[in-house]
Amino acid sequence: MDHFHSEHNELCCESVPLTAIARALGTPTYVYSSAALAANYLAYAEALAGTDHLICYAVKANSNIAVLNQLARLGAGFDIVSGGELARVLAAGGDPARVVFSGVGKSTAEMAEALRAGIHCFNVESAAELERLDRVAGELGLRAPVSLRVNPDIDAGTHPYIATGLAENKFGLPIGEARACYARARAMRHIDIRGVDCHIGSQLTALAPFEAALQRVLLLIAELRADGVPLRHLDLGGGLGVRYGDENPPPPADYVAALRRHTDTLGLCLLIEPGRSIAASAGVLLTRVEYLKENQSRHFAIVDAAMNDLLRPALYQAWMAIEPVTPRHDAPERRYDVVGPVCETGDFLGRGRSLRLAAGDLLCVRGAGAYGFTMSSNYNSRPRAAEVMVAGDRFHVVRDRETTADLLRGERPLPGS
Ligand SMILES: *Cc1c(COP(=O)(O)O)cnc(C)c1O
Repeated sequence: MDHFHSEHNELCCESVPLTAIARALGTPTYVYSSAALAANYLAYAEALAGTDHLICYAVKANSNIAVLNQLARLGAGFDIVSGGELARVLAAGGDPARVVFSGVGKSTAEMAEALRAGIHCFNVESAAELERLDRVAGELGLRAPVSLRVNPDIDAGTHPYIATGLAENKFGLPIGEARACYARARAMRHIDIRGVDCHIGSQLTALAPFEAALQRVLLLIAELRADGVPLRHLDLGGGLGVRYGDENPPPPADYVAALRRHTDTLGLCLLIEPGRSIAASAGVLLTRVEYLKENQSRHFAIVDAAMNDLLRPALYQAWMAIEPVTPRHDAPERRYDVVGPVCETGDFLGRGRSLRLAAGDLLCVRGAGAYGFTMSSNYNSRPRAAEVMVAGDRFHVVRDRETTADLLRGERPLPGS
């Protein structure tokens, strides 16, 4: 079910017209549907029922503490990639015992914070990181729970910036070196081996790469078991894609079923780390048309949201649907480049979109619930957008729009001038 739908010729989120949110809070504003978030999470939970599992929502997709809080209440764990994300999970009431910590560059301070919080597992990405973690845990008189993230050298068939499972990528340990690294880990006094971890990329729209990676990981698990390495879980990462336009990703139920065919008999707890497939379809970015402009024969709709608010189109040439909130028929249909105010030609939300527009119209960018606000910045000294969560017929501001004072916070001129 789509929680963004049209009623009386205007787009609503659940029972709230998007025009009401724009009127109350201005634009640009991110709007999330709590019902959509819950439904997307529960699709995974239902598919995993009956097997030992943990769903660790990937916080980097959308880290607003209202989003995290809602998922925590539904029983989610969390996949974090920084100390900042750990702080968000804790502030949102998340259970540290359900947190896994991924990422290639964990600092000493971040390791110590996560150890003190008592997280479920570190997904360690190199031998050097393993040695540092052993030392940091030793200094705290603790043992660090660890999975090694292996790089299976699989082409995820996705945008090169979000493919992580190829040998040439910076992520994980080459799978051929994993066995030796596990042997080293076993000899470390402050390392407690828990499992094996793998994540091959994001926005995957086919099951074959997941299954190919899983086959390689299963071979490794057999070898590790033959070596006597004690394993409790298998973490298969995130990465299931969503439909932005004409993509046709499998639903979470099919994805989980494909994994379970191979994992149910392993006797390991199955961890997954979905981010995009939980948050993307649960959010939109609301923006208003400031000006219409024609240069040579090109039509531009200049809107008040820009690449600093929503980076995906500029960074990945991503296509995201752009719809009028209140469609009109009294303007000519034109092919518009929908662009922001930022001083970069790469600052666009969409190009060549057939729309009927007038200045002042509200537009919404669909699928903006994941990698939207979290990738936003203050480039061009633009305050970041407000965030709103809708629940039924009510909406709640879950992050205030930034102010000019927020922009300048912490800065100062040189003394004596
Ligand atoms: C980004 C990331 C995820 C989430 O990926 P999605 O495509 O958003 O599901 C999961 N695990 C790791 C290690 C990641 O880096």
